[in-house]
Amino acid sequence: MLKKILIANRGEIAVRIVRACAEMNIRSVAVYTEPDRHALHVKRADEAYSLGEDPLSGYLDPRRLVNLAVQAGCDAIHPGYGFLSENSEFASICAERGITFIGPKADVIAGMGDKTQARASMIAAGVPVTPGSDGNLSDLDEALKVAGEIGYPVMLKATSGGGGRGIRRCDSADELRAQYPRVISEATKAFGSAEVFLEKCIVDPRHIEVQVLADSRGEAIHLYERDCSIQRRNQKLIEIAPSPQLTPEQRNYVGELAVRAAKAVGYENAGTVEFLVTGHEVYFMEMNTRVQVEHTITEQITGVDIVREQIRIASGLPLSYRQEDISYRGYALQFRINAEDPKNNFLPSFGRITRYYAPGGPGVRTDTAIYTGYTIPPYFDSMCLKLVVWALNWEDALDRGARALSDMRLQGVKTTAAYYQEILQNPDFRSGQFNTSFVPSHPELLNYSEKRDPSEVALAIATAIAAYAGL
Ligand code: ADP
Ligand code: ADP
Ligand code: MG
Repeated sequence: MLKKILIANRGEIAVRIVRACAEMNIRSVAVYTEPDRHALHVKRADEAYSLGEDPLSGYLDPRRLVNLAVQAGCDAIHPGYGFLSENSEFASICAERGITFIGPKADVIAGMGDKTQARASMIAAGVPVTPGSDGNLSDLDEALKVAGEIGYPVMLKATSGGGGRGIRRCDSADELRAQYPRVISEATKAFGSAEVFLEKCIVDPRHIEVQVLADSRGEAIHLYERDCSIQRRNQKLIEIAPSPQLTPEQRNYVGELAVRAAKAVGYENAGTVEFLVTGHEVYFMEMNTRVQVEHTITEQITGVDIVREQIRIASGLPLSYRQEDISYRGYALQFRINAEDPKNNFLPSFGRITRYYAPGGPGVRTDTAIYTGYTIPPYFDSMCLKLVVWALNWEDALDRGARALSDMRLQGVKTTAAYYQEILQNPDFRSGQFNTSFVPSHPELLNYSEKRDPSEVALAIATAIAAYAGL
């Protein structure tokens, strides 16, 4: 078993990995840039090292991180999600320096991170993919030709894209002409690669993804699926496991496809295979070669600790479970509580958390790195807390979600929590039948009234009186 792990990440996922290490008697090492000096992952880990003044560059410097791991006597690095988690060079440098990278091999990361290469591997493995271009596009003329063949609407995508960026829907040749240079420039800026490709746009699809685990001995299993159709601008807001809208046959089918996909590329460690589902059609979309933000809900329905499994697999141990050992129970929902103002076009709302009380009670889990008095720095992602609820059946899970959201007190920044309450009351959502158009087709859910917390009002009055009295 690994003995000491450097966590090359921050925020809630770094805390999540520290927790797994603590339960496995593995020493955890945190890293931080100066704005994160007071962050929770730094307090929670067994050791912590600074990566310098710059808020971001330290988290993105593979050599520096691997050097630190070596100096600190670590035998492994966990990359979390985001940052360098899907950077094949990082995995190669680890391998060169004798540090175990907790994830798949560098060539598998590279092969799956390139979306056109991933499509080609899936076609070869007999996994259905969305109709699209044969590899990357060389110019706009080729794009127009391919789009004409597959038919509009089409999706123009950055080959190295991620995080919902570098994707544009084009409904006509004119739109494709307009979007082509934009996606190229966005891809170049965000991902350092100008390569783009085309896919048929699946209208009103469900985003269904399957969690897989594969060990170094070639065994692979799936932990069923998550429904991530509740998205805004291709970014997930609420995730659900299992999907309330798959038949048992579809569920087994996507699970088997995901295992086939993982085995076909020699996958090792935890990964997620994403599909678009419409009616009875299922299309491979991409594979994420890392732990995912929403791994929590799969943990709640299956009882499998995914981060623990990642560490065991990286230690060379066989999977703890066979496919027939995996069952799921009830429904879990994850709400991504973002420090954003939904009423102001989801503008990020950074600042000091003046008060935070975690929700609790039965079937409630929070994964976060915030605390009262913590200041959310403006340099990173706006997600500040993951609220996860579980219940035996769908309706109860929805009601539990509403109760947990109202239990929570998070003051000082604007969040998406009240907006989620509106979604939870919406009949289309409650019916369990929704697709990726749910958020854009329900703009009225943003018309909620902001109820101010009575104690916050009292505090504001007290502050005003104190100021008036010159206290
Ligand atoms: P510092 O030394 O950086 O000021 P502290 O240890 O005083 O940090 O912690 C500051 C705040 O962080 C505490 O008031 C508490 O709210 C939060 N905190 C610290 N450690 C933990 C912990 N283990 N779990 C939850 N919150 C914590
Ligand atoms: P990322 O790497 O940014 O996660 P994905 O390829 O997974 O990009 O796509 C993100 C989201 O964009 C999907 O969940 C889906 O909502 C939408 N999307 C992507 N490809 C298509 C497509 N071909 N048709 C319809 N929607 C799509
Ligand atoms: Mg994706």
